[in-house]
Amino acid sequence: MDILAHGLWAGLGVRWLARRRPVTRPQAVAAVTLSVLPDLAHLTPLLVWAVFGDGSARILLDYAVALPGDEPAMPFWVGEAAHHLHCIPHSALIAGAATLLLWPWRRRVGLALAGWWLHIVIDVFTHSADFYPVPVFYPITQQGFDGLAWNTPWFMALNYLAIALAAWRLRRRSGAPSRSG
Ligand SMILES: [Zn+2]
Repeated sequence: MDILAHGLWAGLGVRWLARRRPVTRPQAVAAVTLSVLPDLAHLTPLLVWAVFGDGSARILLDYAVALPGDEPAMPFWVGEAAHHLHCIPHSALIAGAATLLLWPWRRRVGLALAGWWLHIVIDVFTHSADFYPVPVFYPITQQGFDGLAWNTPWFMALNYLAIALAAWRLRRRSGAPSRSG
């Protein structure tokens, strides 16, 4: 899914949860941040290349919005680093290992991890075999599921409509007086 929609869904999820149990601001910020970070991490090598090498902001932008096969040419190390920095945060195996490691601190980092997991789960189904399939079992395999590409126009329209609807419902509910007494 696109990065804006990832952030919006995570933000809505946090708001929904905050009505049921206490959520601190740092927890909320961490959850939304981790829900968009998997799509930002792989831009770092291009940023490094732009600052310290022959890359540029233009190439970085072209890469960020490229369709499969249309990515700009880049040095081998930039391409490899970007590839693996995309795979790592999109892997359920790696997120699973991180979750296990951080389990003793789940009260503190659980929501942030949930933001990360939300990104992976959404992406698995919103990428297709020919549109950057999500390497959900990296590093064992870089194969992904053949889902529905999120850039399909009707899906994007429906997705943002659903986001608007969910936001409207949440806002309406939080504005309504409590009937539970
Ligand atoms: Zn992603």
